[in-house]
Amino acid sequence: MTHRKLIAGNWKMNGSLDANAALLREVIAGLGGARCDVAVCVPAPYLAQAQALSAGGALRLGAQDVSAHDKGAYTGEVSASMLRDFGVRYAIVGHSERRQYHGESDALVAEKARAALSCGITPIVCVGETLAEREAGRTVEVVKRQLAAVIHLNGHCISEIVVAYEPVWAIGTGKTATPEQAQAVHAVLRAQLHAATPRDDRIAILYGGSMNAGNAAQLLAQPDIDGGLIGGASLKSTDFLQIVAAASAQAG
Ligand code: PEP
Repeated sequence: MTHRKLIAGNWKMNGSLDANAALLREVIAGLGGARCDVAVCVPAPYLAQAQALSAGGALRLGAQDVSAHDKGAYTGEVSASMLRDFGVRYAIVGHSERRQYHGESDALVAEKARAALSCGITPIVCVGETLAEREAGRTVEVVKRQLAAVIHLNGHCISEIVVAYEPVWAIGTGKTATPEQAQAVHAVLRAQLHAATPRDDRIAILYGGSMNAGNAAQLLAQPDIDGGLIGGASLKSTDFLQIVAAASAQAG
């Protein structure tokens, strides 16, 4: 069965009111014939702007993080219900930049996924190995451990998540995993998810790591790659729309 792919942009800490308005208008204008799901994960202060500009259209809204807590004395945090107020459909959790720079543990990532799910927001759960881990032959062990924490805490709700395999050595480096390297890890994750889900729903597994207009088609053609999480290339409308077109071309 062919599934609609999901292309999600991760703007990271980039943008301004003016730049966002131009980028969003161009992306929305180019989505006309898209036969895949498309989202942009914008910095929290710009959610209202992105919600207003994308209202009623096909572009979905995402956040780049979410608090594990519902409310209270957690200065600087943004809760899932607050995100929901702005029409957010997806929240990235466990991005490697948050694991690395903010010390986020597997357990915290699992709690963030739970917080998102409790408000009807789909967590995009990022897993991925560092270069040292890959070179030590530990890729499978690492990604399975990261995903297992989320599966363990979220039980049957796991069928509502999206997973993103993002090898840390490929993020923002211009080094992309080969389609074969990515597919091999996606197949491992697919099997792990399959074992954990009582229902046989296919959970989307995105690839992320220097995906661009030139390599998207080959990556997206792999049987277990259901879409992409796009960093740098999501900041240029032409590049992002070319990736959307590559995903649309895979729709049967
Ligand atoms: C990301 O940050 O999720 C990402 C995949 O970044 P890039 O596409 O720039 O490698």
